Amino acid sequence: MEAFLTVNSGSSSLKLGLFAEDLSTLAMCHVDRIGRREAAMKIRDAAGAALPMPDHAPKAFATNTQALRTALEVFQADFPGLEVIGIGHRVVHGGISHGEPVRLTEVVMKELARLAPFAPLHQPHNLAGVRAASELFGLVPQVACFDTAFHRGHPFVNDAYALPRKYYEQGVRRYGFHGLSYDYIAGTLAQTDPDLHAGKVVVAHLGSGASMCAISGGKSIDSSMGFTVLDGLPMGTRTGQLDPGVMLYMLQTEGMDAGQLTDLVYKQSGLLGLSGVSNDMRTLETSDDPHAAEAIAYFCARIRREVAGLAASMGGLDGLVFCGGIGENSSRVRAEVCEGLDWLGVSIDGDRNVQGARDFGTGKVRVMMIPTNEEIIIARAAKKVLAS
Ligand code: ADP
Repeated sequence: MEAFLTVNSGSSSLKLGLFAEDLSTLAMCHVDRIGRREAAMKIRDAAGAALPMPDHAPKAFATNTQALRTALEVFQADFPGLEVIGIGHRVVHGGISHGEPVRLTEVVMKELARLAPFAPLHQPHNLAGVRAASELFGLVPQVACFDTAFHRGHPFVNDAYALPRKYYEQGVRRYGFHGLSYDYIAGTLAQTDPDLHAGKVVVAHLGSGASMCAISGGKSIDSSMGFTVLDGLPMGTRTGQLDPGVMLYMLQTEGMDAGQLTDLVYKQSGLLGLSGVSNDMRTLETSDDPHAAEAIAYFCARIRREVAGLAASMGGLDGLVFCGGIGENSSRVRAEVCEGLDWLGVSIDGDRNVQGARDFGTGKVRVMMIPTNEEIIIARAAKKVLAS
């Protein structure tokens, strides 16, 4: 049986998709909390039934590579004669030159490795996924699909920083990320709600990494994220928007070096830094610590600001869509975000929200929860590029 494999190696999770030649789903694998004691792998077939793990499978996964090996073993046991004919990878940064998926070669790999400083927590994991797949699958063609690609059409005012022009020319731009997820949501709306797709929609992709996107007429015109995956919303361990003066203060007064600063803004901040409890929304929601509730309130307040800012970028708002691990599962976050937005036309049916309904708005703005599917976007791109 010929199949496509998608590899989405995230900051704390690994998502794999196995797709038949016609792109129907065969199986999905999700490992979260990688590197922690409670890391767990869930593999399900297309009907949602759990596939058994091999007896010798590790109880926890120290690295994404280790998790990938185990998942492949399960796929191969369940689909005898499985032949992976193409592999698509989520790669967070494509820089200026990659506005479309690209076939991976040694030359492209080197070029993508040079973009690692733009996304140091992601790009190396993504490229390690490519190398692990090369080890396991030899010469099977591999394709990179970029999180930045969906945003490459931003107007100048949403693409530039107010720095001297030469930096813009060098590539210091507001790239925006989570593009595969936004591409999926836009494509879904095009099919299910064409009127809304033609309108002005803010999508909030809320996971360990979190960003928001203004999509007007199906195209991204603005994003909360910028040059790196640090900007915009506070995240599990990342600061989100930060006055650059704070970085100067840390350098000059606190005596931090670049490595300490990187650690501070990528790994010690966000929900973890604010709460002092955890970077994980599930843990924060069940914690009695008042700082945990404060961290959630801060997260929601910043999302509300972004909804209004992105609506201003589009000159209106017809829809607000939640997706990502938090957006899809936390009715508390969805409710807390929407609570202060009735002036914008956002109001919700609390019961429908708690039930996890797809549509739960009651005002003039459609409010929706749509489970995202970055994997199918990668699989489609892999098939297309390999066919060309
Ligand atoms: P990543 O950016 O690593 O892909 P995910 O999209 O998997 O992240 O989202 C992970 C986040 O989703 C974590 O903060 C996790 O706590 C949160 N999450 C997952 N399930 C739930 C739930 N049932 N309730 C609240 N938060 C949840």
